Amino acid sequence: MGVPNFPPRLDTDLCKPFYEGLAAGELRITACPECGTFYWYPPEVLPCHPESHAVWKPLSGEGTIYSFTTVERSLLPGADPASVPHTILLVEPAEAPQTRIISLLVGDAEPVCGMRVKLSPIAAGEHVLPGFVPA
Ligand SMILES: [Zn+2]
Repeated sequence: MGVPNFPPRLDTDLCKPFYEGLAAGELRITACPECGTFYWYPPEVLPCHPESHAVWKPLSGEGTIYSFTTVERSLLPGADPASVPHTILLVEPAEAPQTRIISLLVGDAEPVCGMRVKLSPIAAGEHVLPGFVPA
């Protein structure tokens, strides 16, 4: 499997703790400090408690595949031919099944919806991408 070279968008600090967590081997997403509701993508305003501010929480890194697709041919201009094929996953973290994290499948396993997976961050150049392997 290849790895697409999509550097994370770090033009704001909104997702910086997510990528710092990946670099440390940890999956972190945001939650409401009042009621504990998890959110991914980080909300700028919490729908449940708009007067409060989201906090970052470390998760176990375990989850299940909600959906996936395999990219056989990159349509991006100048894409590295070695970046394909790669499989993009929507993973529901075990502690936050109402959220879904876009990530990559690591290795050559055949993905299946409902398959249990665990975090396996991918070093790609100067950044780290979210990746998962079968649990
Ligand atoms: Zn809340």
